Amino acid sequence: VSERTLRLRARWVLAHDGTDHRLLTDGEVVVRGAVIERVGHPAPGPADETVELGDAVLLPGFVDLDALADVDHAILDSWNGPEGAARLQWSRRYARGGPRPVFDAAERAEIRRFALAELLLHGVTTAMPIASEVHSDWAESFADAQAMATAAEDLGLRVFLGPSYRSGVPVLDEDGTVDIYWDPARGEAGLADAVRFVEWCRERASDLVTGVLLPCRIETMTDDLLRQTGEQARRLGALVRLHCLQGLNELRLLRETRGATPVGLLRQTGLLQPGLLVPHAVFTDSHPVLGGDGQPGADVQALAAADVTVIHCPLTSARYAAALHSFDSYRRAGVRVALGTDSYPPDLLRGIDTGMAVAKVISGRTDAAPHADYLRSATTAGADALRRPDLGRLRPGAAADIIAVRLDDVRDGVVDDPVRTLIQHTTARAVSLSVVGGRVVVRDGTLVGDDMARLRARAQELFGRMRAAYGERTDPPAAAGTLFPPAFAPWDEP
Ligand SMILES: [Zn+2]
Repeated sequence: VSERTLRLRARWVLAHDGTDHRLLTDGEVVVRGAVIERVGHPAPGPADETVELGDAVLLPGFVDLDALADVDHAILDSWNGPEGAARLQWSRRYARGGPRPVFDAAERAEIRRFALAELLLHGVTTAMPIASEVHSDWAESFADAQAMATAAEDLGLRVFLGPSYRSGVPVLDEDGTVDIYWDPARGEAGLADAVRFVEWCRERASDLVTGVLLPCRIETMTDDLLRQTGEQARRLGALVRLHCLQGLNELRLLRETRGATPVGLLRQTGLLQPGLLVPHAVFTDSHPVLGGDGQPGADVQALAAADVTVIHCPLTSARYAAALHSFDSYRRAGVRVALGTDSYPPDLLRGIDTGMAVAKVISGRTDAAPHADYLRSATTAGADALRRPDLGRLRPGAAADIIAVRLDDVRDGVVDDPVRTLIQHTTARAVSLSVVGGRVVVRDGTLVGDDMARLRARAQELFGRMRAAYGERTDPPAAAGTLFPPAFAPWDEP
């Protein structure tokens, strides 16, 4: 981006004063090049372009740290109960027989490009993509991460990424229990690729792409690979994101095979340190099924003391029958709580609305999980987790990552406080403008960098293949129709 000056004017601006967000009414944000130059009431001055957004809110773009980066599987596996979900795991026989990738490298790149474009359309300007293992033969390759980096730069999305890696894959045994199929050499090779990718990003010094370490779930990593991940993270000064405290199977497997709790294993392997990001973190000892009583337990206190970030994905957690216990108590204990989308659609406004509703149900109080706290989670907390105080804030000197959400649709009803209105009355489909690093990447609700209709048609085609492939991996093989019966029986012509 050259040093052009862009003026964005709107009825409301969520400006940042260096301490917190502040609501500015009738404001403008002046962008020069890739950086915010001024925030305040409109003032005369030069502009290469002025965008009048009317009854809209200008906000810092959302920071999504468990960002949907695939055609998604929640629509296939978030409704079918424990037996149905178990059949969607790989069988041990399939793992042993040599798994095959559903897509080739070019198809994987297409899917990811589609997903990254969806993030921008939903107002996400910074993303740490989720790993896409559901259709892979193991985890992700160096080339997968490179392709995603290229797509992100092309579309104009800021990303923190790397190839995912793991030592094992969850499999379903004949007796119906979930276990891990191990191949530690693949984990070692994956970590080597991940390290090489961080170094590759450093050399390229792209403003939009930062390399990070993204191992898969804790129960699929050997102790040794966890330890090496921690060592490499310290050597490279790189962030690590590791899924853990996500489910009861994970707790059972770690207890049975390592004699440890997830937090205990993080501590033993040297990963319980600043720069660790933990998606979900639902099943801590604060959860009632693990004896929690509504107060932060030892796990949560350990996460807080180690300056670990929890990546809360409220919509996805709720869809999988899980909830943080609780958003407020984690924050009160001093845990940095950032947000992720994790499933379709990547809509953090829907996510926040759901998270607030769940928090209120859990506590029985309507003042649980205030709008402002959730909005901080979606912006400044995510930026701080990335060690990027220039993100997640609209203030002079910050990166020009800005979105506008329209509040002028008749279907929004009436407008009160604009932050409460945008969370409760609208969704991220009302994002009309996204700017990343001073570049306009979504204009009038439309993607600038690619043809979304073409991307979507292709994604639909590839999704069909991904869906069918579940049937190959179960034992005995099954037709997708029996794995995913329709919500209603098909019509029988009388
Ligand atoms: Zn996740």
